[in-house]
Parts: sequence; structure tokens; C-alpha cells
Amino acid sequence: MDNNFVRLAKPYIDDDELNEVKSVLDSGYLTQGPKVEKFEHLVAEFIGTKYAYATTSATTALHLSLVVLGIGRDDEVLVPDFTFPATANVVVQQQAKPVLVDIDIDTFNINTEDLESKVTSKTKAIIPVHAFGLSADMNSILVIAKKHGLFVIEDAACAIGATYHSKPCGSFGEMGCFSFHPRKAITTGEGGMITTNSDVFAERIRLLRNHGGVQSEGRFTFEAAGYNYRMSDIQAAVGIAQMRKLDAIIKRKRELAAEYYERLRGFEEVEVPFEPSWGGHIFQSFVVLTDDQIDRDAVIRNMKELGIETTLGTYALHCQPFFIKTYDYGLDELPNSYRAFKQSLTLPLYYEMNVRDIDRVVEGLINSINKIGK
Ligand SMILES: *Cc1c(COP(=O)(O)O)cnc(C)c1O
Repeated sequence: MDNNFVRLAKPYIDDDELNEVKSVLDSGYLTQGPKVEKFEHLVAEFIGTKYAYATTSATTALHLSLVVLGIGRDDEVLVPDFTFPATANVVVQQQAKPVLVDIDIDTFNINTEDLESKVTSKTKAIIPVHAFGLSADMNSILVIAKKHGLFVIEDAACAIGATYHSKPCGSFGEMGCFSFHPRKAITTGEGGMITTNSDVFAERIRLLRNHGGVQSEGRFTFEAAGYNYRMSDIQAAVGIAQMRKLDAIIKRKRELAAEYYERLRGFEEVEVPFEPSWGGHIFQSFVVLTDDQIDRDAVIRNMKELGIETTLGTYALHCQPFFIKTYDYGLDELPNSYRAFKQSLTLPLYYEMNVRDIDRVVEGLINSINKIGK
């Protein structure tokens, strides 16, 4: 791609990451070790939880959380319909049923009325997603969870540094799960983290992440059929350097988001992201909602021709073949999620963007929509 191409996202990485990784390679100890422990401490401190455990991804973090909470066959877990499929796939992998819940169209987050209406005697847990870096309505979710005796696992894959009334996402539920995929605020290439305040869950996470083995006097005894969900020290080294940048990344992305808001004000064909009273949006992605009459995919194609990378917001799970086939969903069952799937558009946003890039994106967006028409 030429230099003028505006990418959707780009991790912010410099010599700091390189030096951290070099120190691991020089040491010769590459698997889970002191760097993982340090990275975990940094994240636990940042989120304000007693524990944080690194994993290979947010997907394995979510899966391990379900295992630790004992969720299995015939249990139901409430999941927002508008999310990356991993949120629900892990439920399926535990032989439990993901029950898909509609979203609020303005926040893209789980709709708490639809949520409560879908609680049954089989429901064991809620996995709220903090969509695109905006906290779900945690007060309402915790009230529903308490009333019905449900666990809460936060899918905070997109939300490291996001807050709900100033309290960090990932500190509300029994567990919080983070992702360090390159599309997220900070990255380790691949990687994840589970936060928790529970001593009991913490011990189970430690055990099951490492084959179910307990080490003493230089050997293991195996107490459970565990997994290998360990992060390597190479990845954690990158994570440590990234944690030093996190505040600056969030600050810069919020500034750039403000530039988008200013330029898109009054352009009625798109709705800009809504930040509710609890605030704390980190804009992992800047996702707008195009008018229902607009052919969103044609806008994506046209912007690509203009040298600007955009994409859909995320997926409506009930429209995906697996969920239709397995649970018999119809396309019109979750209308807000369906609309978000059809009309949402992610605009480029990353630390090293500048205001000229924002100008180009907005100009490209307006020209594309005017060209395509309704
Ligand atoms: C990215 C993402 C995941 C998956 O994260 P990985 O670290 O790639 O496994 C899960 N849920 C949501 C909401 C995500 O955005």
C-alpha cells in the first residue's frame, strides 16, 4: 500500500518493546516466567483487582472463566448478539447454550430489559461485552445478576482502561477478560488476561491454565485435566512496554475521537458513537451508524478506492450460519443487533494518526455517501 493509505488500526510500538523482548531472548527463559508475573501485576494494579492472570488470548480467558465457574451442559449463558463470535463460542464449547440478547442501538451494548426477560431457571451467567471500548450498563447488569443469582464475566476484550462511573471495566464481575490482539488498545501479538478478586477462582485459574499441575520440589502432581493457556515471557515483555504507553494511547485516541465528533456534527447520514452518563469510552474502535437507506458495504468499497480502510462494526451472531443452524434463529429476531450489523461502520483510529488523516477520512466518508446516494 502507498504511504497515503489510511489504515483502520495500527499498534503503537517502538524500541521500548524491542528492548524488553531482547532481554527475554538473552535470558534464554522464554515461557511463562518473571515477565508474565510482572505484566500481571501491572494489569492487576491498573484495573484495581486482587489478581490478574495472563492467557493466550481473550478467547481462552473467557473459556477458562466458564470452566472455573463450573458452567457446563444444559446451562444457559446470556450473551449480547452484537459481538465477536468468541464471546458465544466459548459457551458452546462448554456444552452450554448461549442465549443471544439484543443491544441498545445508541451504545451497541447489551439491552438490559431484553437481558432480564431472557433469564430462565437454567441461566447461570451473563457475559456483558464492553463494545468497542464503552462500558456496558454495569449497575443494571449487576442488579439483574444479584436478583437471579447469576455470575458475571465481563468480556472486556476491547476495554482495557475503559471505565463505568470512573471504575475500571474488568473489576465488576466475578472475572474480567481482556485481549491483547493487535486491534485492541495495547497488544502482545496474541494474548489475554483474566482479572478477579476471588481467592478461590484465582487458584483454579492458576491450576487450569497450566495443565492442572501443582508444582512442589521440582515436579508436578496433576489435580485436574487442565489446559495450556499460558502466555510466553516474550509476549509479556511486549505487554510490559505497552502498559507504559496505555495512558498516552487512550488520551490520544480520545482527542482524535473528539476531532471526528466535531467534523461529523451536522452530517445527518451518520450517527456518531454515543457516550452515556457513565462515560469512560476508550474508543478501541470509532464506530458510526449509517442511515438505514445507505448501502454500507458500497461505502466501504468506495472508501477503499479513496485509500481509506474501513470495516463493519462487528457481527450479529444470530445472522451467522452456525447460530441459525444450531438454535434456529430468524433474521428479524434481534432487530437492533441486525441493524448495527448492517449499518455500522468502523472508521480508522490509532495513536499515530494525525488531524490531516481525520480530515481525509471524513471527507472520504461524506463524498462516498453523497456519491452512492440513498
Ligand atoms: C477481540 C475480541 C475477542 C477475542 O479476543 P482474542 O484475544 O482475539 O481471543 C473477544 N470478544 C470481543 C468483544 C472482542 O472484541
